[in-house]
Amino acid sequence: MRDFTVSDVFPDVKHIRDPLGVHMTLLLGRERALLFDAGYGVLDFHAFIRGITDLPLTLVLSHGHHDHALGAMHFPSSLMLPQDLPVFREYTGRREREKIAVTARLGSEARENYLSASIHEPEKLDAAVFELGGLSVQVIRTPGHTPGSIALYVPKQRLLLLGDNWNPQTWVFFPESLDVRTYSQSFRSLMELPFQTALAPHAEAPLNRASLVCFAQGLNETGFANAKPARIRGYEHIPVKAFEPAPGAMLVFRA
Ligand SMILES: [Zn+2]
Repeated sequence: MRDFTVSDVFPDVKHIRDPLGVHMTLLLGRERALLFDAGYGVLDFHAFIRGITDLPLTLVLSHGHHDHALGAMHFPSSLMLPQDLPVFREYTGRREREKIAVTARLGSEARENYLSASIHEPEKLDAAVFELGGLSVQVIRTPGHTPGSIALYVPKQRLLLLGDNWNPQTWVFFPESLDVRTYSQSFRSLMELPFQTALAPHAEAPLNRASLVCFAQGLNETGFANAKPARIRGYEHIPVKAFEPAPGAMLVFRA
């Protein structure tokens, strides 16, 4: 299995790729560090982070889905909006872990450890701002992809951490997802921030503001009405529709 790989977006911002492909972001202040998301957890992400920094660390989960939250099994604690606790409980359970163990081709001992590892339920995220020492981080509530989804904004770098609010393929079709119009309202509110650069969990490279503003403009009734039925691998049982609010970026929502 591949190890984690790190790319330095700014000197104090690292976008880290999990062995199974999702990305997490590490923010380094003078006094504290903040980690946004924990990945799938098939390797010990906490040990990996400790190889980068020994600053006091806060783990914040963007939402409760498996590819962002399961890695919390390696950390003593995490923070998340309580609206996503039911999502977290469902997606960090044995059924999801068994699927991931197959994808990761875990050997029998690693598989057993992965399936049986305990994971602390996230504590309630109620801070609006984290001060890391020369680096502040704002929490933005963005209900849509899930009820308790958030994004983070780092004013110093004019950097937006999108969570699953945007990806090359943005998914708003889960049973726990809110209506596509609620999602769109949350996404448009992110565009009011003066960010210049953004990072998404399922994209390797940083994104520029213009491409996301273009996507926001495409989130409208004409787009919803012209969306075509689609099939998403692994979720064929859910009727979905899809369209491109901006060229090359797909939005998939419940039909
Ligand atoms: Zn998600």
